[in-house]
Amino acid sequence: MNLILLGPPGAGKGTQAKRLQDRYGVVQISTGDMLRAEVTAGSEIGREAGAVMRAGKLVSDDILIRMLSARITQPDCARGFLLDGFPRTVPQAEALDRMLAEKALRLDMVIELQVDDAALVERIAGRYTCAKCGAGYHDTFQRPKVEGVCDACASHEFTRRADDNRDTVVARLEAYHRQTAPILPHYAAQGKLQSVDGMAEIDAVTAQLNAVLDRVPA
Ligand code: ADP
Ligand code: AMP
Repeated sequence: MNLILLGPPGAGKGTQAKRLQDRYGVVQISTGDMLRAEVTAGSEIGREAGAVMRAGKLVSDDILIRMLSARITQPDCARGFLLDGFPRTVPQAEALDRMLAEKALRLDMVIELQVDDAALVERIAGRYTCAKCGAGYHDTFQRPKVEGVCDACASHEFTRRADDNRDTVVARLEAYHRQTAPILPHYAAQGKLQSVDGMAEIDAVTAQLNAVLDRVPA
């Protein structure tokens, strides 16, 4: 199964992608995670992308399309992939259509997580992750079972993203509404778009996603 999880920053894409990965055997491809790895490695892409990301703007289509094209041909994607954070512009969506056609791959479904802007600011401001295994948490909505200890790997170290601050959030939401939301009609026209209420609690959103995806033919 090949899927796209769409939605504004903080909508819960990463949180849900990890769960869908386990249930449906698809591999999560987060272009944000890929770019952050390039920044940490200090690569040429990382140097170019870092400043753009800190400003809450979108990195160039050219870089993203090349990165994604190389990623979906990796062997671990053979059983299916779940795109998280790509495509984010109409040119990226069009390039993805071409890539999939060239590789004779089918896109099964595009799921949009709908969340109000006010809730997104709160979700992003409270987001943190385990520094060791990357498990996601929130100061209010998703606390570890034992305070200060990762549920998944028992690490005591956590990190917060440099771009998860209230100033950058405004720019990121603006980029979503102006550049990313226009791709929704692209997938609606293909009859592939399903919208899910992302305002619900995490487990309730997972239940909605499972109900939608259980109906996709294998
Ligand atoms: P995205 O990948 O779309 O940017 P995340 O999955 O990282 O979003 O979620 C952003 C933050 O909001 C995280 O701290 C996460 O724990 C929290 N979160 C995710 N889904 C929900 C939800 N349905 N209700 C409340 N908080 C949520
Ligand atoms: P995310 O982790 O999805 O919130 O992405 C973090 C940042 O990485 C974004 O604010 C952008 O600067 C950049 N980014 C991630 N994916 C893309 C993409 N598909 N196109 C352009 N920029 C991206």
